[in-house]
Amino acid sequence: MKKRNTVLLLGIISIIILITVQVIIINGIWLQKDEMFNLRYRLLSQDALSAMRRRWSSDGFDTARMMISLYSQKVVKEISLIKDDSVLTEKKKDIIDFVSKALREEQYLSQFLSNYFGRQGVEKDFNHKIVVNWFELIDNDSRFPVYISEEFANRRPPSIGESSSGTTTKRVSEILVKGDRSEDNYYRLDFDYYIDFSDKQKVILKETAASLTMSILSILVVVTLFLITYRNLVEEKRLSDLKTDFINNMTHELKTPLSTITVAGKTLEMEQIRRNETKIMETAKLIGKQSIHLNQLINMILEISMWERTQFQLDKKKVPIEEVMDDIMESFKTGCGNCASLREKYNFNGVEVDLDVVYFTTLINNLLSNAIKYSDKEPVINIEGSAENSSVCIKVADNGIGISKTDQKHVFDKFYRASSGNIHKFKGLGLGLYYVKKIAEAHGGNVSVSSKPGKGSIFTVTIPY
Ligand code: ADP
Repeated sequence: MKKRNTVLLLGIISIIILITVQVIIINGIWLQKDEMFNLRYRLLSQDALSAMRRRWSSDGFDTARMMISLYSQKVVKEISLIKDDSVLTEKKKDIIDFVSKALREEQYLSQFLSNYFGRQGVEKDFNHKIVVNWFELIDNDSRFPVYISEEFANRRPPSIGESSSGTTTKRVSEILVKGDRSEDNYYRLDFDYYIDFSDKQKVILKETAASLTMSILSILVVVTLFLITYRNLVEEKRLSDLKTDFINNMTHELKTPLSTITVAGKTLEMEQIRRNETKIMETAKLIGKQSIHLNQLINMILEISMWERTQFQLDKKKVPIEEVMDDIMESFKTGCGNCASLREKYNFNGVEVDLDVVYFTTLINNLLSNAIKYSDKEPVINIEGSAENSSVCIKVADNGIGISKTDQKHVFDKFYRASSGNIHKFKGLGLGLYYVKKIAEAHGGNVSVSSKPGKGSIFTVTIPY
């Protein structure tokens, strides 16, 4: 258990380390691709901007600047007359809104860039964004700033030629195309123009798809290998436990009749017993009974080990199933006396089945003995039989202790017993149901179980005819 947990823990840690390393590598590749994408578009944008200047001697913001100049000229007078603080705040907000809107909408740089990108055969759909870094209105007479946009009031105005992006927060996904500073008699303005590709993630994903797939595949391979190894380890442990349990159970099973025979032998040596003929007979019978039991146990183990090496050798004959069942039930009842209340209900329609009667008898006997053995009250066993769809179906239902869902999956396995260890309330080797399954399969049929713990179990055997 401890070893298994250590292996599981080490495996999980290794997988986590592997996934972390892969995530770090992929993240690095992603950032690199992102940077390259931005660089490519930054260079293309600069080329486009130079081409625009060469062709039109403009940067695409002439109209916007003119509108801002006219607006500033008008508003600079109005603002100096406002006395009320709340009106002034509203007015200032209107001013900055107007400036931003004019820069955003009254420019043709975006259109030019889009056409330019289209001609270069690269992605041409993008969003543009204007960030106003500084705006002030100037009184033409005094040359003093009348209004500095609130949000920039604590900063110094950038000097001409200084990159304004240095004073703004770095935008990772947006590409800075142009930083601009302009002024005239009525205003002073500094703004940045950014572009942003909504399809950027998709483009990068396409470019990193190969490494991403390789990475996911390698993780999957490692996880699968680990799971297979771990499952094998668990299975190996289970088989080794089963073997240990079997050896313990077998020792126990063989020791019981042996010690009875030893005690009986010692009894026969006693003077007063030798003189009593009835006692001698009783002891001899006991020795005989225990020897038969011992013999049965040894035969069962030998037979199973023989099945492992050779195919099942059945001696099949066409026999009327109803008669066979009657015989089996008859001798079982004689054997067990009043050990259980057995209720039979057959309707085999007189069909004949190809059976090895000896093995089939063992199959039914094993089911009946289990129904009695695994019972905590007066056993009531219902045996039903029917013939339909070219198969006979025999159900053995008991009112015993039942079998849990997990155990139901394994009860037909070799050596499996519902609770492990040799401290069992019910004695056994875990071979009875394995035997039942092998016999049913050798006849071309099968066996299944349905059960509720505490309520009882139903074993169903089907054999084709
Ligand atoms: P054994 O009886 O020797 O342990 P079996 O192969 O006959 O071996 O049964 C395997 C296990 O299935 C048993 O240990 C028991 O826990 C469970 N089992 C079998 N038959 C019944 C039954 N009728 N009711 C409850 N449990 C059963």
